[in-house]
Amino acid sequence: MRVLLVGSGGREHALAQTLARSPELSALFIAPGNPGTASLGINVAIGAHDVPALVAFALEQHVDLVVPGPEAPLVAGLADACAAAGLPCAGPTKAAAQLEGSKTFTKEICDAAGIPTAGWARFTEAAPALDYVRSKGAPIVVKADGLAAGKGVVVATTLAEAEAAITDMMTGGSLGDAGRSVVIEDCLVGEEVSLFAFCAGETATLIGAAQDHKRVGNGDTGPNTGGMGAVSPPKGFDRAAQEAALDTLVRPMLHEMMRRGTPFRGVIFAGLMLTETGPSLIEYNVRFGDPEAEALLPRLTSDLLPALHALAQDRLDAAPITFSDQASVCVVMAARGYPANPEKGGVITGLDNAAALPGVHVFQAGTMQNMAGELVVSGGRVLVVCALADTVQEAQKRAYAGVAAISWPGAHWRTDIGARAL
Ligand code: ATP
Repeated sequence: MRVLLVGSGGREHALAQTLARSPELSALFIAPGNPGTASLGINVAIGAHDVPALVAFALEQHVDLVVPGPEAPLVAGLADACAAAGLPCAGPTKAAAQLEGSKTFTKEICDAAGIPTAGWARFTEAAPALDYVRSKGAPIVVKADGLAAGKGVVVATTLAEAEAAITDMMTGGSLGDAGRSVVIEDCLVGEEVSLFAFCAGETATLIGAAQDHKRVGNGDTGPNTGGMGAVSPPKGFDRAAQEAALDTLVRPMLHEMMRRGTPFRGVIFAGLMLTETGPSLIEYNVRFGDPEAEALLPRLTSDLLPALHALAQDRLDAAPITFSDQASVCVVMAARGYPANPEKGGVITGLDNAAALPGVHVFQAGTMQNMAGELVVSGGRVLVVCALADTVQEAQKRAYAGVAAISWPGAHWRTDIGARAL
């Protein structure tokens, strides 16, 4: 099979590595890819959001399957354009990708399908929004309705904080049009975890669960990032609990999407809170997480390629997916200054030594090759060092042994990834 994989991060390096193991793979193209994917297939200089160019390339190269990594091409209609061109694509249509793009849309789906989620209300005027939070009290969560690059959510611990967030977003225009309407939610309390499944129509197959570490500093301190590490499985969320959460949080959504004539096909990533009364949905994403993909994919014991091909043709049952029960810990190594102002150009050494350690995989994200052929830092999150083992403790030990083997000037990482799962 000839495959076009779209994206350039650690997630896509992990997908490329997993696809490259398939005996059914005859050619792998990655658009645009990174130096890590270049050793597994052919990198193609097309941006992940350039839908017409991606489809034209796939047709010209007689590609059998398009695999989207990030959400941007899906929101831009990659799956729709593939369908129009007769190309199987393992991702949702633009209409189904609204599950990630619009908070109101997701809340409406949850209500229609009876999916547990925080109580909510939507406002387009500041005055009734302020009255509402005053009647509810703190803690309470204020969210810009549109996409705000992770900056549109305020978990307010005091009423004053909630009022300030509403005023800033709705009358101050702090987030532009994204904050003109807001969703106000009850505050959920518990451990936050992510659940992943392959979906096609009304069928969902469990892939696993992971816990992300969003803040830059140890002990969940400092600014938010794209993710500083992941651990799988999270504590208190075993396979049986994950299967049960598929039944309450994912399958009813698939049914409702089907009923509306916009069936979902692709990877679903359900962000949820393990509350005292059971898992409650926070958000859906319509693709793998990064770094959660790097934590989950090395555990795959069946062939990913036929599974994605079957998914793209709504025949998920045709290719069973199996995963080992091993634990996985991924540590993100970031550039000096990340997340505010990452410093580029440092020469990276020790990658091969790290990758040679037992159970260790090193995935590249913000890297490039310089004129001298050296691997250098080109982005904020640079490498994702992952390890598999029988226990989280051992996986953590192995991952940090991998990190210790790698260096460049100013590299930083959290030293507590996996600690909460122990
Ligand atoms: P991201 O960019 O992280 O995906 P987003 O803008 O899509 O964020 P959400 O995922 O809805 O927004 O919320 C971001 C974070 O805020 C969540 O990961 C969670 O930690 C917290 N959060 C959101 N809703 C609630 C809630 N109802 N109760 C408690 N915490 C919440």
